[in-house]
Amino acid sequence: MSELSFAELGLDPAVLEAVSAVGYETPSPIQAQSIPALLAGNHLLGVAQTGTGKTAAFGLPLIDMLLQNGRKPDPKTVKTLILAPTRELVNQIAENLRIFARKTPLKVNIVVGGASINRQQHQLAAGTDILVATPGRLLDLLDRRALRLDAVRFLVLDEADQMLDLGFIHDLKKIASLVPDARQTMLFSATMPKTIADLSQRFLTNPERVEVSPPG
Ligand code: AMP
Repeated sequence: MSELSFAELGLDPAVLEAVSAVGYETPSPIQAQSIPALLAGNHLLGVAQTGTGKTAAFGLPLIDMLLQNGRKPDPKTVKTLILAPTRELVNQIAENLRIFARKTPLKVNIVVGGASINRQQHQLAAGTDILVATPGRLLDLLDRRALRLDAVRFLVLDEADQMLDLGFIHDLKKIASLVPDARQTMLFSATMPKTIADLSQRFLTNPERVEVSPPG
């Protein structure tokens, strides 16, 4: 465990309140390493599995940075795009982020297959601070012009190795081409095969590399 407290990692008091409300006392190793790097504006390459606390490792600094730039998103735009391989993981990430952001005005939306696309389209109309999505349904909604990605400032690829295993590489490249180059990107993967190294070369600029072993 890290010696530093969440406050010492540089998070805003509003975010620290959320952290203590969920009962986290000490940052996990991936949080201790990722949070300061992300708050400093770096891209991040995280080699870490689920269970290490990686959702908060990217979620807390994201919420902090979105609060610093207090403007509401314009209609149909997205400020933060988080891509994950499965509906279950998307729901889990969004659930965590909604808890962290509960006392803030930030809006978290979900886009996944197997649920009403019309309802998702409707929810995107007002603009979204944080969108958590599976790649396929996101592309369907882009085809419908339900949203635009030209205002994305933060891009997260979670469980990138699993996304490649599920055949999402083409979708990821297409989505990344619609996101501005001037963005901060975070890529998390449980393993680091050459395909992921190539992907991170393509999507990340000079990333901070953070690696933690699986939880016991
Ligand atoms: P994750 O790897 O993001 O799926 O998180 C795994 C579990 O650890 C979740 O149930 C979190 O609520 C919990 N967790 C994350 N960070 C901390 C922390 N710093 N202290 C205690 N529990 C945590």
